[in-house]
Amino acid sequence: RSPTPTPEALAWNGTGSTRNLFAIVLGRCYTYTQLLRPGLGSEACPKILDAFKSAFISKNPCDIMKEDYQPLVDLVNQTVPCNKSLFWSKSKELAHQYSWVQGGMFTLEDTLLGYLADDLTWCGDPSSVEPNYQSCPRWNECLNHTGSVFWKVISQKFAESACGVVQVMLNGSLSKPFHKSSTFGSVELFSLDPRKVHTLQAWVMHDIRGNYSDSCSGPSIRELESIVNKRNITFTCQNNYRPARLVQCVKNIEHSSCASKI
Ligand code: NAD
Repeated sequence: RSPTPTPEALAWNGTGSTRNLFAIVLGRCYTYTQLLRPGLGSEACPKILDAFKSAFISKNPCDIMKEDYQPLVDLVNQTVPCNKSLFWSKSKELAHQYSWVQGGMFTLEDTLLGYLADDLTWCGDPSSVEPNYQSCPRWNECLNHTGSVFWKVISQKFAESACGVVQVMLNGSLSKPFHKSSTFGSVELFSLDPRKVHTLQAWVMHDIRGNYSDSCSGPSIRELESIVNKRNITFTCQNNYRPARLVQCVKNIEHSSCASKI
């Protein structure tokens, strides 16, 4: 008898799922709920892993719907205190360094769902009960993409629950620090609830070794300001917000902008 051939997994153009994906997700869940933020309850971790698996396992990775992640999202009941939400766009490293040092702010990746998935790649395959470790679609390979749908769903939820003053860190070393098509510009900004969020503060951070430019008065930030104002939210903007600049200074202590102002 000839063995039944195993069906070939679909081939995509991006890198495959992160090795040891499920062990990493489960480990992160325990790290977060038991060590980083005890009080959220670590008992749910096995269920959280199951809901994560069910969202994409045995499915076409270009055919994932928001609803696929709903059971996972429903298992996690976490709220961020008012005035503590930090959004970012093209400034992930600095935003995370700042929030880690500052201690009281939350980027999406400081919440459980974002923490579980940050920097991981995952996708399934219709012919297998395992993640596809060979290849996954790139973000721009399709619309209903396993990863991009996940980040859309949890970014939306994160923004909907924000209240008070919210912050966004943008990258002033780019010609356009604000992009309408980014997740911040297309999902988070429009999910802020003006009944709860009264002010959006933008921090436009420039690479410390780059040229100084007043991005707050440039066309890209003006566009953001106009969208925010139309939504009945007050907008403020600061170039090189000092506490975040000081985080940049750790690696660039000799730079003139790092000298004490006292
Ligand atoms: P951004 O353009 O810097 O993208 C954020 C991240 O999304 C990137 O670091 C990358 O991991 C991923 N990404 C986006 N486009 C991609 C592409 N074409 N191919 C591969 N990966 C891609 O900023 P943004 O789009 O404004 O998203 C940031 C905001 O949205 C944050 O406020 C955060 O809350 C949320 N978010 C976080 C992540 C994450 O990876 N942690 C991803 C998407 C959205």
